[in-house]
Amino acid sequence: MKQRLVFTNLQIKVMLLFISLALAPLAIVGAFAIKTAEEIILNMVRNQIQHIAVDKATLLERWISERQADLKVIAGSSLLGSLNREQIAPFLELVRDQYKVYSEFIVIASDGRIIYDSTDNRHHPRTAEWFSNALAGKPYMSDIAFDAAQKESFFRISTPLLHASGGVQGAVCAKVGTNVILSIILRISLGETGECYLVNREGTFLAHKEPRRILTETIAQSESFKNIFNAGTHRITYIDYRGIEVIGASARVGGTDWALVVEQDKDEAFRGALRLKHYIFLVAAMSAGGALVLAWLLSYYIVNPIRKLSVAANCLARGEFAEASIETTRADEIGLLSNAFADMARQLESRQQKLEQRMVLTESELEETGEKLKETQQAAVRSQQLASLGQLASGVAHEIRTPLTSLKLFLESIENEITISPEYEEDFQVAMNQIRRMEATINRFLDFARPREPVYSWLEVGDLLEDALLIIGPRARLQETTIRKSLSPSLPKIKGDRKQLGEALLNLMVNALEAMPQRGRLTVAAHPGELPGTDGSRPCVVIDISDTSPGIQGENIGRLFEPFFTTKATGAGLGLSIVSSTVQRHGGEVMVRSVVGRGTTFSVFIPTEAEPAIGKNGKHTDS
Ligand code: ADP
Ligand code: MG
Repeated sequence: MKQRLVFTNLQIKVMLLFISLALAPLAIVGAFAIKTAEEIILNMVRNQIQHIAVDKATLLERWISERQADLKVIAGSSLLGSLNREQIAPFLELVRDQYKVYSEFIVIASDGRIIYDSTDNRHHPRTAEWFSNALAGKPYMSDIAFDAAQKESFFRISTPLLHASGGVQGAVCAKVGTNVILSIILRISLGETGECYLVNREGTFLAHKEPRRILTETIAQSESFKNIFNAGTHRITYIDYRGIEVIGASARVGGTDWALVVEQDKDEAFRGALRLKHYIFLVAAMSAGGALVLAWLLSYYIVNPIRKLSVAANCLARGEFAEASIETTRADEIGLLSNAFADMARQLESRQQKLEQRMVLTESELEETGEKLKETQQAAVRSQQLASLGQLASGVAHEIRTPLTSLKLFLESIENEITISPEYEEDFQVAMNQIRRMEATINRFLDFARPREPVYSWLEVGDLLEDALLIIGPRARLQETTIRKSLSPSLPKIKGDRKQLGEALLNLMVNALEAMPQRGRLTVAAHPGELPGTDGSRPCVVIDISDTSPGIQGENIGRLFEPFFTTKATGAGLGLSIVSSTVQRHGGEVMVRSVVGRGTTFSVFIPTEAEPAIGKNGKHTDS
């Protein structure tokens, strides 16, 4: 969740950065362009409108003055000066026909007499403004009025009729229709919303493309009015009488208090600018979109690997090495980082594995040591038991030996002094032999229990073996056992007790013969060798005594050297115990190798240079 947040934030930051980088200049340029375009358009439209307004006002002004000039010419003609209806009527009829704009003519004498009235049916009050003005010698022009019957706006102009002497003798008044001129004036080409209208000083419409507004509506309340008639408040854009913002300009029509107004809706005028604005917004939106996509891609290529790295780091922390591997083929910095991380993960994993292996190893070593300790403890207990058993046994042996010796001596003296009848002679000899055998066994046991002090001398191993072989020779021949002897030529002398070592070798040879009662082969060999020990190996002489017996059963191997262990019916089980303790006393060791069905080899290692082990008990003599 937290990772997700980091990822999102970073990605959003990158995106925002890109968008602002892409949009800021565009926004500035766009705003500037739009503003400039608007200003240009505004000025252009305003100039155009101004021109139109001035042109139209000038046109109207000129037209009005032409009409006034016409009337002046008419008034100056002698026909009208005659004040004769018969003469005036055809003339003015002709003028009306020719000019079209004059719908009525009225000629009145200064005394108020109507000389001519083209309407025929009306009487014009002598108080009419045009009349009084004309009588006062001033040309007059009325405001515009609307003739509903004719559907035409019109105004009246009048001018005095002068005597030749210069005095006013009457007045002529013309009603001027404005349809033609106004249709020209109001028709402007200024877009769809461009319009032109005429107002008087009160703001009332005098001419407008919509006739219903004429003389009925006023612009007095709108900004247009202020803009036209209030000096100093000339604005280019303002809200017009319809409540719509327009660009407008006005021009006064000379000789009247009218104003000609030209306006165009600002929206229409600015349509170009609006289009430009749209284009700019479109470009901005596209740039923003592009920047977004670009930023997203970029952040995807940067943020995604970072996210993967962080996930992998978490996996690594939990020891999930397989999940922590994020090898990549990318060659950029992210790739380098990922590969360095993967490398680190691999190294951590191999270190972890090594540590685990060491732990397993240490555990197995511990187990082994524990096993050995247990064995040693068991051996110690057994030794203890054997020692007390040995003491007990040697006590018993002593007790038996004394009466046995007495018994033997007694029987020997009997044998010497009396003659035993031949029928008992054999039994007597059997008894004697049994007694001697018992004595020998007891002596041997006591030898083992309380060993004699050894006497050391330099000995030839060959001699020792020769002596032993000499003793067993007859028995070997008896059971048809062949004997082989193989002595290494460079055998060093050894230091030891001749009698004890000789007995030990003899014991081993007797055992071998006993193990193969018929037609076996006894091999006796000696060669220099090494005796492995805790503090390095020592040089020694190795004596191998091998037989071709059926071998020793696995379960017995471990017990061979225990005192009293025997598999023989008449065995004492002390032979190998004595051999072992004798050899150990000489600083050496006895080892046994046996293959069931093939034979057994006992190897005696006697160190050649070692101090005899039991120096304090032993005597040292050279022979
Ligand atoms: P003993 O000979 O009185 O039985 P030892 O201590 O000499 O006592 O021998 C113990 C036992 O070791 C023997 O009973 C025998 O089973 C076994 N043994 C010793 N030497 C050999 C051998 N060379 N081949 C087979 N078994 C042997
Ligand atoms: Mg024996």
